[in-house]
Amino acid sequence: MAGDRGEEVAELLQVMIRNACVNDGSPGSGHEQRNAEVLRDVLEGPGLDLALYEPLPGRTSLVARVEGRDRAAPSLALLGHTDVVPANADDWRHDPFGGEIIDGEVWGRGAVDMLNLTSSMALSVRHLADEGFRPEGDLLFIGVADEEALGVHGAQWLTEHLADEVHCDYLITEAGGFPMASPDGVRLPVITGEKGAFWCTMTVRGTPGHASQPLRTDNALVKAAEVVRRLAEHDTPADIHEAWRRFVEGIGLPEEFAGPLLDPDRIGAFCDTLPALGLARQAHACTHTTIAPTVMTAGSKVNVIPDRVHLQVDIRTLPGWGRDEVDAMIADALGDLAGEVEVTWDSEDVATTSPVDTPLWHALERVARRSYPDARCVPFLTVGATDARFFRHLGTVAYGFGLFSEQLSFEQYAAMFHGVDERVDVASLGLTAELWDGLVRQSLR
Ligand SMILES: [Zn+2]
Repeated sequence: MAGDRGEEVAELLQVMIRNACVNDGSPGSGHEQRNAEVLRDVLEGPGLDLALYEPLPGRTSLVARVEGRDRAAPSLALLGHTDVVPANADDWRHDPFGGEIIDGEVWGRGAVDMLNLTSSMALSVRHLADEGFRPEGDLLFIGVADEEALGVHGAQWLTEHLADEVHCDYLITEAGGFPMASPDGVRLPVITGEKGAFWCTMTVRGTPGHASQPLRTDNALVKAAEVVRRLAEHDTPADIHEAWRRFVEGIGLPEEFAGPLLDPDRIGAFCDTLPALGLARQAHACTHTTIAPTVMTAGSKVNVIPDRVHLQVDIRTLPGWGRDEVDAMIADALGDLAGEVEVTWDSEDVATTSPVDTPLWHALERVARRSYPDARCVPFLTVGATDARFFRHLGTVAYGFGLFSEQLSFEQYAAMFHGVDERVDVASLGLTAELWDGLVRQSLR
């Protein structure tokens, strides 16, 4: 049964990969209309209502609804994005837009981020409608454009313009559900929150002059170099928040890891010296507000002392941080240079979280145990952004979840997100399909 479901999902996933809805961040890219039309053809039929929206030409999103038996029962949405990030074929072992099945794995951009989930969600909703099964509360499938460029023309547009049409009490989107072995059985991370993204441009000013006489000039570039150094070296205090604590405790790490990872006074030094660099970065980012200077533009000509530098900075905040806390952190980091730096804000997205131990949490655990009988869910705060945040702002309990086989390790999967040789095994697609099949039949009261 899982095999059949996996093959059916694989077939749809292949089509969506080949449609190459590549979002490079420009409004004219994406062309998600192609995948939206494929999903419409899958979903169309009796038992559900379907609508397509196109805020910009080609940037199509789709909303399908199966009406529940009880208007008062909580509604559930399955949310998948239909776009993918670019891929350079030269670096891949197989064509990133070929959608080939090789040794039981579907290859291509989007295979784990997240056309695998989007295709399995759509098929589960169609099967439910075909059976004539009416869920307790309304069931929605939302296929959105533009997730890979902050969701402006997709989930953000839908939640701002069609809040009633996409309203839901509970929502599942990417990612999570990678089985992690612990001494007490399999642990399945559920993404219960994501960090905030505060992006800014700092302008550092100086005085122009002739570069042949640099002594005692006011060189904006030299000043900016010191600004960059201070930002990069700035330490914020560790926050051992509930999701982190429950995650570390849940995966059953040995004491020599769990001890420092749960101690705000020791975690910083522990991450600085831990040989496993990937784990160190992840653990640090999950427990700290971070600052990364990323783009600097300065100077006009080799013989002119520059009078202005623009520096872009990517700040990722923990839950509880707003603009006031971020402003204070920057002032603290810059010290006596704070007065020389003018900050303009390009994005002010606060972190969002959903509670753990909700009816959806328990329903996911119940259904996932059909595939992993000793599984328990553990919460996880993702350091990246997903479309879940727009729905959390509306009061929805939103999680990132899916299910994967144990064929590929968590490290292998993690490297595939926006990386090379992205692929997913057909067995994982079957597990995911059965997860949605089971979940939509659960009561969420
Ligand atoms: Zn994604």
